[in-house]
Amino acid sequence: MGEVAGAPARFEVPFVDLKAQYRSIEDQVNAALLRAAARTDYILGEDVALFEREFAVYCGAAEAVGLDNGTSALELSLRALGVGPGDEVITAANTFIATALAINSMGARTVLVDCRPDTYNIDVEAAARAVTTRTKAIIPVHLYGQPADMDAIMELGDRTGIPIIEDACQAHGALYKGKRAGSMGVAGCFSFYPAKNLGAYGDAGAVITNSPKVADEVRMLRNYGQRVKYHHLSAGFNRRLDSMQAAVLRVKLPLLDEWNRARRAVAGLYDRLLEGSEVVRPAVSPDVKPVYHLYVVRTPRRQELQSFLAERGISTGIHYPIPMHLQPAYAHLGYGAGDFPVTEKVAEEILSLPMYAELTGEQVRWVADSIHDFERERA
Ligand SMILES: *Cc1c(COP(=O)(O)O)cnc(C)c1O
Repeated sequence: MGEVAGAPARFEVPFVDLKAQYRSIEDQVNAALLRAAARTDYILGEDVALFEREFAVYCGAAEAVGLDNGTSALELSLRALGVGPGDEVITAANTFIATALAINSMGARTVLVDCRPDTYNIDVEAAARAVTTRTKAIIPVHLYGQPADMDAIMELGDRTGIPIIEDACQAHGALYKGKRAGSMGVAGCFSFYPAKNLGAYGDAGAVITNSPKVADEVRMLRNYGQRVKYHHLSAGFNRRLDSMQAAVLRVKLPLLDEWNRARRAVAGLYDRLLEGSEVVRPAVSPDVKPVYHLYVVRTPRRQELQSFLAERGISTGIHYPIPMHLQPAYAHLGYGAGDFPVTEKVAEEILSLPMYAELTGEQVRWVADSIHDFERERA
């Protein structure tokens, strides 16, 4: 088992545990699903309308539009702003592929920039240097649940007239100077993929916005490009949030702050217990209150540490092992190794430790002790 004499008792630590959360809300969620089933308004029904209202209020935004997933939220935001073929959209090279895919599927060119070495969020000065006359949007990603440098990003947007679309798919409830992630740009995009901080029981997503025009466009685009049935104003899509998912999300939304608090407590415990370890702990900007979608450490001995932890029943992840510009899917962009040195270095060293609201102190301790044991045994 790879355990050494004197090692603490062994705990299985999965990377995420959706069952633990389900057990804690089983009765309410089952009842909500049965109510939605019996109501039979499965498409754009009451739960969707109510969830949109509740999520907009929670985020401090004027409106929310429920969609089928987070990629659609990015795509329809871009389309609503008129982004299409010939246009360029700037985002970070170290994001999840969906950010870049959304840009491509709207026919625009993905322009990548490097990230900061401390928070791993987009390097705003690099983004400013990447602006051309064809730039039609900038998409900062609030990576791992920590908002990007929104003052600097909004200032860049104001100075150049380029709209800012926030990819808040990992940052439900996170705060930047008291404002919710997603509520600062012209549109904020959310995914409710099951493992996100606010997750549905299938795919789901939303756009939040303070612009009635953007909300109206996204609503039209998600529903075959119609505002009135069978009157198609635009070649739209079928990208609607369904009522069963909205029913689940309505049960979970009131618990989001509590779950995010629990995630911050887990992060705080990791931070404390990993003091003195060689792993680099996450750096948090004083301007933000992060929600730790992921707790990501760095070590030059990642492969070894990951295997050592796996032997002790501890699951970890890498978010993400291959930067966008080195993905075969983006070979046509013409980037190469060395173009984004911070992103490339970070990609080789990052390791995501188990993180979810229901993790126990014992589990967190077992992970931290195991990291210290690794460093002692393989010194
Ligand atoms: C999850 C995620 C998305 C995409 O969301 P889906 O619901 O899976 O389409 C986009 N961007 C980031 C940063 C994400 O983490």
